[in-house]
Amino acid sequence: MENYWNKEIECMSREDMKKLQDERLVAQVKHVYENVPYYRNLMDKKGVTPDDIKSTEDLHKLPFLTKNDLREAYPYGLLAKPLSECVRIQSTSGTTGKRVVAFYTQNDIDLWEDCCARAIVATGGTKEDVCQVCYGYGLFTGGPGLNGGSHKVGCLTLPMSSGNTERQIQFMRDLGSTILCCTPSYAAYIGETLHEMGFTTDDIKLRAGIFGAEPWTEEMRHEIENLLGIKAYDIYGLTETSGPGVAFECSEQSGMHINEDHFIPEIIDPDTGEVLPEGSKGELVFTSITKEAFPLLRYRTRDICVLTREKCSCGRTLIKMCKPMGRSDDMLIIRGVNVFPSQIETVLINKGYSLNYQIEVDRVNNTDTLDINIEMKPEQSENIPAEEKKLASAIKTMLGISPKVHLVPEKSITRSEGKAVRVVDKRKLH
Ligand code: ADP
Ligand code: ZN
Repeated sequence: MENYWNKEIECMSREDMKKLQDERLVAQVKHVYENVPYYRNLMDKKGVTPDDIKSTEDLHKLPFLTKNDLREAYPYGLLAKPLSECVRIQSTSGTTGKRVVAFYTQNDIDLWEDCCARAIVATGGTKEDVCQVCYGYGLFTGGPGLNGGSHKVGCLTLPMSSGNTERQIQFMRDLGSTILCCTPSYAAYIGETLHEMGFTTDDIKLRAGIFGAEPWTEEMRHEIENLLGIKAYDIYGLTETSGPGVAFECSEQSGMHINEDHFIPEIIDPDTGEVLPEGSKGELVFTSITKEAFPLLRYRTRDICVLTREKCSCGRTLIKMCKPMGRSDDMLIIRGVNVFPSQIETVLINKGYSLNYQIEVDRVNNTDTLDINIEMKPEQSENIPAEEKKLASAIKTMLGISPKVHLVPEKSITRSEGKAVRVVDKRKLH
C-alpha cells in the first residue's frame, strides 16, 4: 500500500490544485513586487503589473530570473523579508560558478522539511525507520533538508554528513540504518566499500535510499540497488528553490512528483524562452508560490527535463518530471563542437563500460584536447589498446570529434563523497 505524508495535497484533484496554485501565485506576485525592487524592475521593464497576473495562465507574462540575476543581486538583492525575520542561510555547491545564497524564514524551513518528509514517506518511511543522512551538512542543502524531513517523519535520524566511509558502514551496521540519504555517487562508493570490507547486504538492514543532487542513470540505480540490497529513489531540488524535495520519486520509480502546491513548473525552449507543451523536452523553470524570504518567480534552472501528467500507479496526482538529462550549462565546447558529458556516459553504458570515468579537457598549441579516463572491468583488461580504440571510435561517432580514451585500473578514479566530478576543464577559458 502506498504511503503518503499529506494525502490531501499529494492526491488532490487537478482542479483543486490549480485553484490553490492560482490563489498562491496571485498573492506571491504581489509579495514579490512590493518587497523585491530587483524583480519589480524586471516586471516594470516588461510592462507587467501584479494586476496582470490572475491565474497560472498568466505566468508566462512574468520575466524570467536566471542564476546571473542571483549573482548580480548577491547577497540581499532578492530578499523579500526583513533579515530579522530570516533564520537560515544556505548556499549552492557552486558546481557551475560563483555560489549563490538563499534565505529562509522559519516557515520556509518548515515547508521545505515537509517536502523532504513527503519524499521519505514515499519510500515507505515511518517513525520505525533509522535514517542515515550522509549528504553534506552545512551550507549545502542536502544534509539539512533530509535531516529535517527525517525528524518530521519521526525516523531515528543519524546526521552523519559525508565522508569517513568505513565509519558510515560501521554505524549503518551497529545502529541498523534502514534508509540511506546521499548523492548517488556516494551511495555507490559506500556500496563498493561495504563489499571491500568483506560484508554483504545480509550484514546491513538498509531497505531504501534517497539519492539526488546530481544526475544519475537507470544503470547506476541498478548498480546501487544490487550493491546495497535496497530500492533506490531519486530526489530533486536546488538551493534556489529551497533544496532537495522540490520533487521526489514514488514506488513506481519512473520520474519524480513535483510538489506543485509549492512550486509551479514550466518547460521552456532554452534559446527562445517560449513555453513548450507538456511532454516536450526543454529547460525546467520553477515559480515558488509559498516561499516568504527568497521567493523566486520563473527561475530558470538550466536543467533539461520533460514533464508529464500521465496517471501514476502510486495514486499521486502531482505532475512528474523525468530524471534531469544534464544541465544546459554542462555543455562543453571542444574544438567548436557541443559536447555533453551525458553523451559520453551513454556510450559507456551501451558498451558495458564502468561509469567510473572522468573527462579531461585541455588546450595544447591552441587545440582543444579531450581525454577520457575510464576504469576497466576485469574482462576488458585482455587487450587494452584494442578496447581503447573501439571505445574511442564509438565516442567519435556520438560526438563528431575524436577523444583519447584511457582504460585505467579499477578504483583509480577518485570516488566522490558529494557530487561526482565528471569533467576537469583545464583550459581556463573563464
Ligand atoms: P549547484 O547548482 O551549485 O550544484 P545545488 O547544490 O543547489 O547547486 O544543486 C542543484 C542542482 O543539482 C540542480 O539544478 C540539478 O542540476 C542538480 N540536481 C539535483 N537533484 C538532481 C537529481 N535528482 N538528478 C539530477 N540532477 C539533480
Ligand atoms: Zn507516483
